[in-house]
Amino acid sequence: AYCSMPAVTTKRKVLVTGGAGYIGSHAVVELVEGGYECVVVDNLSNSSYESLARVQVSTQKYIPFYQVDLVDRQALEQVFRDHREIDCVIHFAGLKAVGESAHIPLKYYQNNVNGTLVLLELMEKFHVWKLVFSSSATVYGDYTRYPGMLQVPEECPLQPTNPYGHTKCTIEDILRDVYASVPSTAPWSFAILRYFNPIGAHPSGLIGEDPIGIPNNLLPFMAQVAVGRRKQLSVFGNDYDTRDGTPIRDYIHVVDLAKGHVAALQYLQKNGQVCREWNLGTGRGSTVLEMYVAFKKACGIDIPMEIVGRRPGDVPLLVAKADKAKCDLEWHTELDIRQACEDLWRWVTKNPFGYSQRGVVSTVCNPGIYDTRLVTLGHGSKFQVVFGNIGASIVDIRVDGQSVVLDGGASAGNYAGATIGRYANRIMGGSFTLDKNYVLSTNDGPNTNHSSISSYHTKRFLGPLVKTPSRGIFVAEYVLLDEQPTEFESDVLVNVIYSVDVESKTLDIQYSAILVRGGATAINLTNHTYFNLNKVNSESLQGTEIRVATNSFLKGNIISKADIATFHEGEPTILGKNMPSFDHCFVLSESALLDSTKSELYPILRASHPESHVNLEVLTTEPSFQLYTGDSLNGLFPPRSGFAVEPGRYVDAVNNDRWKEAVTLAPGNIYRSRIVYRFS
Ligand code: NAD
Repeated sequence: AYCSMPAVTTKRKVLVTGGAGYIGSHAVVELVEGGYECVVVDNLSNSSYESLARVQVSTQKYIPFYQVDLVDRQALEQVFRDHREIDCVIHFAGLKAVGESAHIPLKYYQNNVNGTLVLLELMEKFHVWKLVFSSSATVYGDYTRYPGMLQVPEECPLQPTNPYGHTKCTIEDILRDVYASVPSTAPWSFAILRYFNPIGAHPSGLIGEDPIGIPNNLLPFMAQVAVGRRKQLSVFGNDYDTRDGTPIRDYIHVVDLAKGHVAALQYLQKNGQVCREWNLGTGRGSTVLEMYVAFKKACGIDIPMEIVGRRPGDVPLLVAKADKAKCDLEWHTELDIRQACEDLWRWVTKNPFGYSQRGVVSTVCNPGIYDTRLVTLGHGSKFQVVFGNIGASIVDIRVDGQSVVLDGGASAGNYAGATIGRYANRIMGGSFTLDKNYVLSTNDGPNTNHSSISSYHTKRFLGPLVKTPSRGIFVAEYVLLDEQPTEFESDVLVNVIYSVDVESKTLDIQYSAILVRGGATAINLTNHTYFNLNKVNSESLQGTEIRVATNSFLKGNIISKADIATFHEGEPTILGKNMPSFDHCFVLSESALLDSTKSELYPILRASHPESHVNLEVLTTEPSFQLYTGDSLNGLFPPRSGFAVEPGRYVDAVNNDRWKEAVTLAPGNIYRSRIVYRFS
């Protein structure tokens, strides 16, 4: 007889405290790649949200983020309420500067110890019983007090030499006490991970250590000397009893370390109630001078160095006995110090100022709410563009300091400035047939416009990942996984890449999309910026002069001629209150490709205003564009306060055999298009 197996429910949601930090952000990458869902809590006291924005773009996964201090019980409780399915906590949040801890010990105890207490109490309240804790090798103190001990085993008595170490020790004790108290109703399990010296960065070069102020650790300091941010490296003491007189540490690649957390989490999930300590190290030690040589080799730059006196609290030797983690967690390190130095150097050269970049400013509209973050790229006096996550929108474009677009607000959820998809423009009758018939909600009489309830202008895009490839050029990449539930059914991955070129006052938009699940779908992406080139003087587009590349437009299925100035004929068409209204799909080319970037980029519209003297040229690779004079702006703006130029595929192409192929995204294919706004 058929006997069904009991359903295996693996709980996969993990709360990561301190997840925006150095080790936490690397752990989030490994967790997401291991199929876990992460929720991050961080007060950003020593980190930047940028790390998580980048992780989200690179993993293409949304990571809910709460800017919350662990000691703020009420705020932390809300996180547990919002995410009832949390199965495990990985607890990185803490202050970690040894030297500083000696100056402000109360702050360290309050933050590290009290933060952990609040966390544990809430875990108990919400029945979350598994915790992986970031402890440190510093809890051992100077184990050369036991002569002949070269690698420190977990059983070594703890004797930290500084307040930071004491906080780690205290938290370990708390965990052991809580575990020992275990009534059967509180099935706690704890993995206490004692890190040795984490170094390196993610090999992608996207995330790494971004110390605020003067780095306390050797590698980040050397890196800053190499990029010219600091003059020289100080080596604290060469009179220790070691092979070259400098202290020996066990350096572990941060990616190996991050993977150790996934292994510990899996151990807790498999083994039920446990409370154990594990060293996470390589078992091999390197002296400061050996690291100095290794890093110089990786970066190929000579690093000025000076030997200075010992630093208080430093111990001569700190190397892990690493067998216990190897055996229990089935985890071992795979990367060596050469790879760590190379990865660090890649991170540093790509991000010489860490997560801050010149000409890039990010702000949040509501404190702590990062899903509607605004990112401003460029230079205020010349050319600057503001982007928002909702709809991957263009929130503002400033030309010589003047705003020239209607600002729909970062989270207002209107079309102004937004990315429009999955299917921009109208689908007549609200239905189409590909492998089957799809019926969409209608919002334009009997038709569906801009995808109706599935429209991208209300969707939260991930990112952006901002790059500054050269002076005056800024590239921001947003990602959207447009997935179920959607009336289009199949799942599509969409990339929007904005390039801002300050010198040429150009905003270049590149769209691409692939199908990630399900059958072929309809696709047509565009941007819905409303321009008012004279916004500085007037709320109306009155007086804007335009010319277009063609006056051919689609009237139903027939190509007709509109009364509008083209590049080569007559006087420009003037837009304004009592002037003709346009909501026309102009046709530039009657043949179209799914990847329109294979065709040439050509100008389709030129506009200028005699009062502001701002000129706009719109270019595209798309075969058609909708010109809209903004007769109905949803009550948000008065009618005709701006005009939109929406390059894309012909209106209703999905229902037209001539053009259907160019809007059908089938498995294995890629949709691409490009739009350029150039100002002068
Ligand atoms: P980090 O400073 O980059 O990360 C810690 C994160 O916790 C930061 O993002 C910070 O903003 C956040 N945080 C601090 N206090 C908080 C609070 N009260 N509420 C919410 N968030 C808070 O440091 P890291 O190097 O990634 O270290 C992570 C953990 O590992 C720390 O607990 C640290 O003590 C421990 N550790 C680090 C090292 C090391 O050399 N990096 C070695 C051993 C142990």
